[in-house]
Amino acid sequence: MRIKTNNYAGNGAHTDSYYAASANPSPVRPALSGDNTIDICIIGAGYSGLSAGLDLAEKGHKVAIIEGAKVGWGASGRNGGQIVNGLNASLQTIDKRYGGETAKFVASIVQEGGQIIRQRIKKYDIQCDLKENNIFTALTSAHMRELEERRQLWASYGINNQEMLDRHDLHKHVRSELYCGGMIDHSGGHMHPLNLALGEAAALEALGGVIYEDSTVVEVDHAASLPVVKTAQGKMTCKTLIICGNAYLGNVVQPLAPRVMPVSTQIMATKPLGQELARSLIPGDACIEDVRYILDYYRLSADHRLLFGGGTVYGGADPRDIKAKLQRNLVKVFPQLQNIEIDYAWSGNFALSFSRVPQIGRLGNNTYFAHGYSGHGVTGSHLFGKIISEAVNGDLSRFDVFGALKYYPFPGGRALRVPYSVIGSWWYALRDRLGI
Ligand SMILES: Cc1cc2nc3c(=O)[nH]c(=O)nc-3n(C[C@H](O)[C@H](O)[C@H](O)COP(=O)(O)OP(=O)(O)OC[C@H]3O[C@@H](n4cnc5c(N)ncnc54)[C@H](O)[C@@H]3O)c2cc1C
Repeated sequence: MRIKTNNYAGNGAHTDSYYAASANPSPVRPALSGDNTIDICIIGAGYSGLSAGLDLAEKGHKVAIIEGAKVGWGASGRNGGQIVNGLNASLQTIDKRYGGETAKFVASIVQEGGQIIRQRIKKYDIQCDLKENNIFTALTSAHMRELEERRQLWASYGINNQEMLDRHDLHKHVRSELYCGGMIDHSGGHMHPLNLALGEAAALEALGGVIYEDSTVVEVDHAASLPVVKTAQGKMTCKTLIICGNAYLGNVVQPLAPRVMPVSTQIMATKPLGQELARSLIPGDACIEDVRYILDYYRLSADHRLLFGGGTVYGGADPRDIKAKLQRNLVKVFPQLQNIEIDYAWSGNFALSFSRVPQIGRLGNNTYFAHGYSGHGVTGSHLFGKIISEAVNGDLSRFDVFGALKYYPFPGGRALRVPYSVIGSWWYALRDRLGI
């Protein structure tokens, strides 16, 4: 099957984020040109593509990644940096929708993404400001019950890194009056997301992998016995193709387009606050997210800025005034930052699946894909990249369990999925506001 599309990444430069401004040095990489062949070709140099590519290169495979913009240009280089274990869909939801055996399987892998990240940071000495612990905060007693249920459920699967925090204990970690408590996950953490991606790319290249940048794939033939990928100036024929374009892939691979919806979320970075003020806000230096449907997520950077994110726009458009939008929420959490200067504000797209469960699968015999982490993909993309690598390397045991999960299309199809999702999110936001 052949599909064509246009460019999506403008001039390919990173978005104007704090991360791009504080990125580690990275080489200029060539664009794909001419006629090429490779064993394994990957579309997209975000965490999914890099994770699959690095794992395959470690196993001795010849890998090339074709990236439309720059390494980490997509969600992977502009996200909240929060290493949060678990999928967006809870184990409870997975149990209800897919049964106990699947929930048990998912419970057995939900902490692996975070472990992969830490192993790679250590093994390849990636400088990305890794810090430990993430905290889920509660605004209501219903949220506290939800967190306690989550803790108990995870404990029933033998995952015991989580600890409930009452108002007093939470205050030791987050100095905000907005919350009545929360839960700390000692296996979570946070890091500089773009520098993680750049470090993984360098590790892949050190193992002989090749990354082409500024090379938007405009045509994919995944039905051919040897898949073919075309860019404006080049062509790559491969034995195995792995598609990791996630929310930015658009219509390039038509069977994948209706499976996920791009959704944008925004982040801003204050000016450096100085260590004293920064630590007076988040003394333990964990990363924080609340448990509402449309949530706030925030943390401190290595240079003591507050990186504050939140909000969603279905369809993936950027709001007109990101700072104004986020400032209102920031002040509810930390009123003392009312007039704080904001140095950077940016937006990025994640891929939402209707079930909030990531999807991995195969098109034909030799083409794999992974996408749809639904906003909780820092760990998931690392894990699913690895599971695809295992499959390509001949071990389909984990790929087959996840690949077999039923996929739920968006109601209303591509034409109506945005308005329907907006209506759905209003309902959940209303429940959050009413505290039910
Ligand atoms: C603002 C923001 C904040 C977030 N915060 C968090 C968080 O704190 N914690 C968390 O767990 N998750 C978070 N997420 C989600 C997480 O970042 C993503 O789930 C994860 O990075 C997805 O990785 P990926 O490699 O699948 O996709 P991406 O990182 O988006 O990578 C896809 C790549 O494919 C390339 N591509 C697309 N189409 C083509 C094409 N035609 N040709 C060539 N290349 C192509 C793109 O340029 C891009 O580089 C956030 C997302 C956003 C946007």
